[in-house]
Amino acid sequence: MNLWQAIAADISATTGQPFHIASRRALGGGCINAVLVVEGDGQRWFVKTNEAAKLAMFKAESEGLRELAGAGTIRVPQPLCHGVAEGTAYLVMEHIEFGQGGEKIARRLGEQLAALHRVTAPTFGWRRDNVIGATHQENTPATEWIEFWRTRRLGFQLDLAARHGASASLLRGGEKLLDALPALFADYQPLPALLHGDLWGGNYAADVHGKPVIFDPAVYYGDREADLAMTELFGGFPPGFYAAYQAAWPLAPGYQTRKTLYNLYHVLNHFNLFGGGYAHQAQRMIAGLLAELR
Ligand code: ADP
Repeated sequence: MNLWQAIAADISATTGQPFHIASRRALGGGCINAVLVVEGDGQRWFVKTNEAAKLAMFKAESEGLRELAGAGTIRVPQPLCHGVAEGTAYLVMEHIEFGQGGEKIARRLGEQLAALHRVTAPTFGWRRDNVIGATHQENTPATEWIEFWRTRRLGFQLDLAARHGASASLLRGGEKLLDALPALFADYQPLPALLHGDLWGGNYAADVHGKPVIFDPAVYYGDREADLAMTELFGGFPPGFYAAYQAAWPLAPGYQTRKTLYNLYHVLNHFNLFGGGYAHQAQRMIAGLLAELR
């Protein structure tokens, strides 16, 4: 049995319906994985594939999608099955037909994201680790947010950056920032909120019924501001998104500063994945935060 026969057999065994692949189409746009649409027997499925060692990543993505679906607030693709065949890991999920985006969708997404963030947990983190981009993301639960952000997020990426040859001044600044974290939370105690975790503009769309859809998550329970911050990192979402979110659940004073702290995690991750100018961007962000704390 080849890879695609094995995937078809798994789909069929999971749904209990016959399924044979009549056509297979590769999509562009997958940053990390090969992404394809397979069709046959009146069904259509969205499939990601990668090397066999990435099975845990697909497992975590599948569980993350279920966690988000469980909140019942924003539409996510329903995961179907995952496994390894012929040395390739795969994840199969519901294929969603995308429609037109725009302000109205963005407003709905803002409102629904605020509702998602109302879903809480006893601790920060999650029951399993997952992946951010292609980097390991540690989610071991913690009761203190500052501790969580210091060790599982910023500290983790700074350690990686040291191994990837980041400059001594970047690393020194990063260390200083880790020590100074409590000052950014003097009047603000975040609650553990269910987060998408990787909410940039490429990870949401609208379905053909005008419902927002989010996908490709890096789920954990954390400060809701971290999700909002990420929406602003690469160009921002439409204004209606922010207006609707703020109307549903206003952000606390100090967000503008903490936004930089939260996005620093992703910028360091980009340095660790791609190198280059991200080191300068990270260094500017660290310097800006330290200057505000002086
Ligand atoms: P990667 O894990 O490689 O980053 P993504 O999850 O971002 O891949 O998916 C790549 C692209 O495939 C997305 O930008 C989106 O356009 C499309 N896509 C993602 N999930 C689905 C789905 N369930 N149904 C249809 N298209 C999807």
